[in-house]
Amino acid sequence: MPRPLIATIHLDSMKHNLMRVRDCAPHAKVWGVVKANAYGHGLERGMRGFADADGLALIETENALRLRELGWTRPILLLEGIFDATDVDLLVRHELNSTVHTVEQIELLEQASLAGPIDVHLKMNTGMNRLGFRPEAFAAAHARLRAIPAVREITLMTHFANADELEHPRLTVLEQVRRFCLGADGLPGQRSLSNSGGVLHQAALADELSNDWVRTGIMLYGGTPGGRSAAAFDLRPTMTLASEIIGVQDLVAGDSVGYGSGFQAEWPMTVGVVACGYADGYPRHAPHGTPVMVDGILTKLVGRVSMDMMAVDLTHVPRAGVGSKVILWGAGLPIDTVANAAGTIGYELMCALAPRVRVVEG
Ligand code: PLP
Repeated sequence: MPRPLIATIHLDSMKHNLMRVRDCAPHAKVWGVVKANAYGHGLERGMRGFADADGLALIETENALRLRELGWTRPILLLEGIFDATDVDLLVRHELNSTVHTVEQIELLEQASLAGPIDVHLKMNTGMNRLGFRPEAFAAAHARLRAIPAVREITLMTHFANADELEHPRLTVLEQVRRFCLGADGLPGQRSLSNSGGVLHQAALADELSNDWVRTGIMLYGGTPGGRSAAAFDLRPTMTLASEIIGVQDLVAGDSVGYGSGFQAEWPMTVGVVACGYADGYPRHAPHGTPVMVDGILTKLVGRVSMDMMAVDLTHVPRAGVGSKVILWGAGLPIDTVANAAGTIGYELMCALAPRVRVVEG
């Protein structure tokens, strides 16, 4: 019998969340971000779950080609863009839209003898200081791209550093929008600014923030940036990580649990041992008290998470025993709640799901 640890991917929830993105940003086309193995959900499942998206965005060219092999015919955006001349050739052959964020990439395009038209996203660095041309260098980069005969559409893009917080003390969304408008002033091309955070704030920013395209990831997977309540936005979990109790220990006061004996029982209690550990993607640094659901009852992690197992408090789950159903995150226990308790973000938990975990759809 296989180990009882299973990640269930809810394709219907992926479709639902895409509709929620459209509700929040009704005038924009939607890039479904399927990088990092569709945030741990599997690239093909990402493609099927977001079958109604206007395009899919990811990192690696080989995964873009896989999407084409799987039958995806709509636009594909490479978020880091091209790295060498071979990549340029693939843009044309497979109709891939590439982010352009360096002079070196522009040179690659200038030097290539492009056999057909290509569309690109020209990226502006408006304060994130990750990828892109600074606002004052943007128009020149745009002019160089426009001078390349094979370059057809140039979409103007930037990326928000703090879209989850409207009032960030260092860099607000509005300040990034202001810089973007300055750098892109008068340039033709569609605009793509918002990630999930921007989309979730769309109502508050309606006057300042307009997108022809939004690029949503976490929201499509039922999470929120910044740990806000996904349910409040009617977003549904798309991944449920579930397992079972595979052992039970009755402790007396003074007994400790797990490696390092970091948890010590103050009174007699029962703990259940769950088949899930950090080698499955559960965060090792999750502290005592991180929420876990057993038989539909919310309880908590005790002791240190080990490679394959973790222990949970069964004190208030009276009938629990070997075989009891455990939800680590997902339906009934939002991934953001678990991530928050563990000092991380839902994105990381999803992406860290280990290859050894059985994945089913349901
Ligand atoms: N756009 C770009 C350039 C990104 O790197 C990402 C992810 O980090 C996204 C959009 C999607 O972000 P989110 O998952 O917060 O919606």
